[in-house]
Amino acid sequence: MKEKIDFSNLGFNYIKTDYRYISYWRDGQWDEGTLTEDNTLHIGESSPCLHYGQQCFEGLKAYATKNGGVSFFRIQENAKRLQSSCQRLLMPEISIEKFIAACESVVKANLDYLPPYGSGGTLYIRPMLIGIGNSIAVKPADEYLFTVFCMPVGPYFKDGLSPVNFMVSDFDRAAANGTGQQKVGGNYAASMIAHEIAVKKGFADCIYLDPTTHTKIEEVGAANFFGITKDNRFITPVSSSILPSITKYSLLYLAEHYLSMQVSEEDVYIDELDKFVEAGACGTAAVITPIGGILHHDHLHVFHSETEVGPVVKKLYDTLTAIQTGDLEAPEGWIRPIS
Ligand SMILES: *Cc1c(COP(=O)(O)O)cnc(C)c1O
Repeated sequence: MKEKIDFSNLGFNYIKTDYRYISYWRDGQWDEGTLTEDNTLHIGESSPCLHYGQQCFEGLKAYATKNGGVSFFRIQENAKRLQSSCQRLLMPEISIEKFIAACESVVKANLDYLPPYGSGGTLYIRPMLIGIGNSIAVKPADEYLFTVFCMPVGPYFKDGLSPVNFMVSDFDRAAANGTGQQKVGGNYAASMIAHEIAVKKGFADCIYLDPTTHTKIEEVGAANFFGITKDNRFITPVSSSILPSITKYSLLYLAEHYLSMQVSEEDVYIDELDKFVEAGACGTAAVITPIGGILHHDHLHVFHSETEVGPVVKKLYDTLTAIQTGDLEAPEGWIRPIS
């Protein structure tokens, strides 16, 4: 229960909150959905999600804001991305309205768990959609379950942003025409070995190169890559197998419109890292992880510093987090207060 939660000491760990939302798709339609206290799913042993990975998910946060309210950040983008994942895996889509209403009901039912404004913590929300029912054949399920749960999480960096090192992996995360652009569990299952190898060698995570030529940066673990050039441009890779990070597109916009930088999505060759003076990995969970160095073929390429965050990465982080907590005016439509 919430009495036991130390909001100043949260990590990124599962914490059972009081309520979660659950809705079923049967006979060709979604039901109304309901909140439940039961955090165990009861699904058939032949459910296609369990055998053939027919499942997708999202990750977003609710923020306690400066004015005492609670808000979502660009939640429509998460709703649209879940729809894109559903299209790719032949699963029934959730309307944007249903997605937002489900997330809103879960936050409202668990407000006791929302880390307070100023704590750096947030309420992390995990929507997911899985194929269930009695069908062992390799084909789309005939029943689906959509559920949303939440848990309080702390700021990723408790003592301020500090850079970490990454190593280039020989493994591919996703195929060129595979499911890299969708947030599906299979991509994660395929990436765990590369992550484990990197961690065993003392790195925070691995860098994936493009699956076709293995010459260009794709992703940094489960986050997108961006670099800042000597002439102050914000550059991020473009590829059919990168997950379109909402954080990344938000930083791209802020770099251009708030920091007056030039921005572009273009190929980032692993042997052209010299052009960057700073680099970072971005995603909802950590917002930005400054990249100290990248190991490739026994050479550690260090950007700004292995110990100090660079000024542009810091400024981008401060700008984005200030918008999320309502300390800085957001671009139109980015913040959705929970009524
Ligand atoms: C979720 C995810 C990201 C980050 O996306 P955000 O929308 O910024 O949270 C990046 N890469 C992968 C592989 C992901 O699954």
